[in-house]
Amino acid sequence: MLTAPPRHEPPTSRNALAPGHVVRVEEFAYSELTPTEIWDRLVSIAVREQASDVHFGWQSDGVHVDFRLDGRTYPQGCLPAEVGQRLLNHVKVVARLDVSEKRRPQDGHLSLALDGREVELRVSVLPTLHGEDVAIRILDRETGMLGIDELGVSQRQLRVLESMISSPSGLILVTGATGAGKTTTLYALLRRLADGSRKVVTVEDPIEYDLPGVNQAQVNPKLQLDFAGLLRSVLRQDPNVIMIGEIRDAETAEAVVRAANSGRLVIATTHAVHSGAAIETLVSLGAHRHFVGRSLRGVIAQTLLRRLCPYCTIRLEETADVGLLEGVRQLLGPGERPVLSMGRGCPHCRHTGYRGRVGVFEIFTADDQVRTMIARGAAARDVYERGVQNGMITIAQAGKLAALRGLTTVEELLSNVSEIWTGEEAGS
Ligand SMILES: [Zn+2]
Repeated sequence: MLTAPPRHEPPTSRNALAPGHVVRVEEFAYSELTPTEIWDRLVSIAVREQASDVHFGWQSDGVHVDFRLDGRTYPQGCLPAEVGQRLLNHVKVVARLDVSEKRRPQDGHLSLALDGREVELRVSVLPTLHGEDVAIRILDRETGMLGIDELGVSQRQLRVLESMISSPSGLILVTGATGAGKTTTLYALLRRLADGSRKVVTVEDPIEYDLPGVNQAQVNPKLQLDFAGLLRSVLRQDPNVIMIGEIRDAETAEAVVRAANSGRLVIATTHAVHSGAAIETLVSLGAHRHFVGRSLRGVIAQTLLRRLCPYCTIRLEETADVGLLEGVRQLLGPGERPVLSMGRGCPHCRHTGYRGRVGVFEIFTADDQVRTMIARGAAARDVYERGVQNGMITIAQAGKLAALRGLTTVEELLSNVSEIWTGEEAGS
């Protein structure tokens, strides 16, 4: 017996799946599955497909289900309101949230064992016009915890990075847009540093993974525990290495720089798109140029590009595109032929041509000249140029190399990286 309203007609063909579409949630309603069964199926599919998030959003016609895959959102259909409501109640129960509370935002989490893997889900509920929207972040230790040699940095960059973090004190900035993979990089650095010889303390919001050997503190505005306040407490613990999840205000910026100038290695993040801008962000928040210059060891700027699907990638042609080769010809190996590729689309990549992501990095090291330039108030562009003169591989070069080596496409590169380094924005 069909109980759903007519507008939720059951799909007749599986062939009509759009790129990124992996389930038809309407079928769940039609199969008369219980909320528990719908939840179990949705979560196992999301984890299997390596989705980073599942979103349930109310609209006038019911609860829309979206998956976030490789940084993009893909609709998976709509559940009738009644079915959707029962499912969301179930989610609140399993995440140990207050089911009767419908007017305030709530946050919870739960752990699952799926296919022998430990998966942590962070659940966030937000009341909206038609009901409570629910966002679920999937934290999979297996894919989220990488070593620094697994991040996607080149061999040359890895040596620079290792030398940077071997410094006993100073400031290292990790920068990039939201979703650029900064947390994965931070955790990789911390895991390397927490070898038992140093005391490593973090201030995070939120704590994503439990790191062995690291003392992690969670920001909690409800208890007046902000980044700056927690950092003051952390300093009393006399750590060797401090990681600050985000520099948001003048007080934190100043405290970070002070700590980095007092014999501690401080790793902090900003949202700037390249290394020159990251230094400027810190100064514009109120950190003193002189102390930023004196303590800066380097900046890791990064972004994530969608990786071509290994099951359906075809090589297109050897590129002769001068624009694409410009600035990277000398970085190609002897005899290496730059070839462009594309993904045709197959079930493994949900017909998108991409599966997973590849990190592209720019690792800027501060030498004495750079430190002096920053202290004297040189423009971000000039500081950046000095990095380039010192042989830094820029994020645009790293992106071009990824495209020319068949890891991603030129389209993906242009939609993510071009605005970073077309020239004019460089010094802004
Ligand atoms: Zn494929």
